[in-house]
Amino acid sequence: MSLHLTGQFPAYRPRRLRQSAVLRQLVSETQLSARSLILPLFVRGGRKVRRPIEAMPGVFQLSPDELLRDAAAAQAAGVPAILLFGIPDKKDARASGAYARNGIVQQTVRLLKKELPELLVITDVCLCEYMEHGHCGVVQRDKSGARILNDPTLKLLARTASSHVAAGADLVAPSDMMDGRVRAIREELDRLGFTETPILSYAAKFASAFYGPFRDAAESAPKFGDRRSYQMDPANGAEALREVALDIREGADIVMVKPALAYLDVLHRVKTEFGYPTAAYSVSAEHAMVKAAAARGWIDERAVTLESLLAMRRAGADLVITYAATDVAKWLKETLDR
Ligand SMILES: [Zn+2]
Repeated sequence: MSLHLTGQFPAYRPRRLRQSAVLRQLVSETQLSARSLILPLFVRGGRKVRRPIEAMPGVFQLSPDELLRDAAAAQAAGVPAILLFGIPDKKDARASGAYARNGIVQQTVRLLKKELPELLVITDVCLCEYMEHGHCGVVQRDKSGARILNDPTLKLLARTASSHVAAGADLVAPSDMMDGRVRAIREELDRLGFTETPILSYAAKFASAFYGPFRDAAESAPKFGDRRSYQMDPANGAEALREVALDIREGADIVMVKPALAYLDVLHRVKTEFGYPTAAYSVSAEHAMVKAAAARGWIDERAVTLESLLAMRRAGADLVITYAATDVAKWLKETLDR
């Protein structure tokens, strides 16, 4: 922006364009619309299961029949897409539930695509929920401790992604942060003829304390150590750009920054640098903080939520993944109808 082209007081009075709601809307630079929202949902086996997640009010582990109801409600409110996470009955050292033909995610994808064919189904592709140790990759233990192996993990991720797509998933979203996973998944999808299925990569995913409540939701907390050997150091912005560049070169169609609110600078840099479709994931603790403060009457839940999501859009997010998607879509509709 060239400051010498900007007016000066008293000729320029910014308040002129703030006088009424109509004027403000006319010059508003950023819009928040239900069309850009994605709702994460957690599925587990059974029927009529709706298990609340303590630190995430309004979020549940759902059996497929119940998940279908929430997905339908989201779609009816105007949310175009869901992001599906699976919680298997059994875990093992090879995450076999992640790529089982009749795994919990695969079953649910088939059900969703049959009952709600217009709803976009994005599947989270990772192994942590399916591994007995809770890490996102294959673990090798030796005298010095345990290591998360990169390359042996890629095959399992590619197999998981292709099994989701074979079941009908519209997009796959790898979240593991192994190096080279986007390429491995792209090659496997292409080999099987799924050349048109887009990849939404968790390109810059930080090792964040803001994921706490999610780990209860997805039952994916690591049994030992932490995820700092594969997820990014919160201190690093330039490295985030390299991670995104890598994923784009490997075939990512949409890139994500996660978490959202504490990383808006990264989001802005990613969008400005690459101009790719960019997603922000407003994570579990962001949701929990708003809900907790709102429950005490300390903040206005609706206003704070809408402002936070608008800030993500302003920073560069085209897509916003939020647990509040259905509520937000309803709130936006009410505002329009008023
Ligand atoms: Zn994981």
